[in-house]
Amino acid sequence: MDAGTLMSTAIRSDWYPVHIVRDESEAIERLVHDLDGRRAAIVTDDIVAARHARRLAETLATRGVSVSMTSFPPGEANKSISTAIGLLDWLAGSEVRRRDVVVAVGGGVVIDTVGWVASAYMRGVPYINVPTTLLADVDAALGGKVAVDHDSAKNLIGGFYQPKAVVTNIGYLDTLDDRQLRAGLAEAIKKGIIASPDLFELIESEREQILARDPDTLRRLVHGASAVKCRLIERDPYELDLARPLNLGHTVGHALETVTGYGPVLHGEAVAIGIVTAAQIAERRGLLDRESLCRFVDLLARVELPTSLPGLAVEVDPAAVVAALGQIRKIRDGSLRFVLPTALGEVVIADDVADREIQIALDEFAGSRR
Ligand code: NAD
Repeated sequence: MDAGTLMSTAIRSDWYPVHIVRDESEAIERLVHDLDGRRAAIVTDDIVAARHARRLAETLATRGVSVSMTSFPPGEANKSISTAIGLLDWLAGSEVRRRDVVVAVGGGVVIDTVGWVASAYMRGVPYINVPTTLLADVDAALGGKVAVDHDSAKNLIGGFYQPKAVVTNIGYLDTLDDRQLRAGLAEAIKKGIIASPDLFELIESEREQILARDPDTLRRLVHGASAVKCRLIERDPYELDLARPLNLGHTVGHALETVTGYGPVLHGEAVAIGIVTAAQIAERRGLLDRESLCRFVDLLARVELPTSLPGLAVEVDPAAVVAALGQIRKIRDGSLRFVLPTALGEVVIADDVADREIQIALDEFAGSRR
């Protein structure tokens, strides 16, 4: 036998249920079932604690579940290594053991942070996501991308760690403010553009019911958008392929979040501008017809998402966004990958988009729309 190279193999396959339910009592039934007699360590933010998580913890306790709970201050600034260390300290001082379950109740900030903590604690304890924002329902809660931010870049410290289950209660959206709801819609519209004309048409035709938070329409929306995400990530759960349609709008979106300092522009709002920019570039290249471009921009505008830089709550210089993209280009070995829509439900990936094209696209709608 050759005494040289050995091959060590570690194959792992994960699957988990995504329950989309109407109210908290249904959510409790799913949680009690999926906890399967284990202790639940609920982690949330202070706003969601007051609105929903405290009541959820109390009800679980009345159902015989052993529950502990902690919360941290809300907001992207707290998706940080220091929050994660605080949570690890809390877990270390608790009775949570290897097979107990951490339950993340909140928006994307809670879910990303708690997932990463769960992946690190005792080399990985199971966790369940209970998303409470539309953005988390249709995006952050699915796919096991867990991370905290670093001063130098968003999501810099993280990994892939799949949840044990996702319990999405549409009822939690009742208390979400309008701006956050619209930001979540940007991620749903994106999924329609890249992979599902049906989803896009649902949002077009049921826009008013969605904004009025009609529960049945929201449930159809969340179901449709979640199904698209599950289908797309299944093909490449660990992002080995750099060509990722789900990144539509995120190249410019991330640059926009960076130049505005992660806060004044919500993630979904930045993605909306990113989608318009990508569609604009695609149209100028002759890849997308004018009618489809206008249809995409119109839907974003009709749900009151910003579609141009002047539509944002803060002033942004297009040249600063292009400069921030230059930084991202450097980190990624000189190339920027753009997802460009070519028709409703279809995209191509381009890695040769020039700064000039981006600048023109950012300028194009300036002043003409929100
Ligand atoms: P968020 O978690 O900051 O929540 C937004 C605000 O709404 C917070 O103040 C929160 O306290 C409050 N809130 C949450 N639920 C509420 C409810 N039901 N009622 C009233 N208020 C409520 O923001 P978000 O938009 O949910 O998430 C953004 C984060 O998600 C970003 O950090 C982004 O990077 C991340 N993200 C991750 C993925 C992924 O795949 N892991 C995908 C998309 C976005």
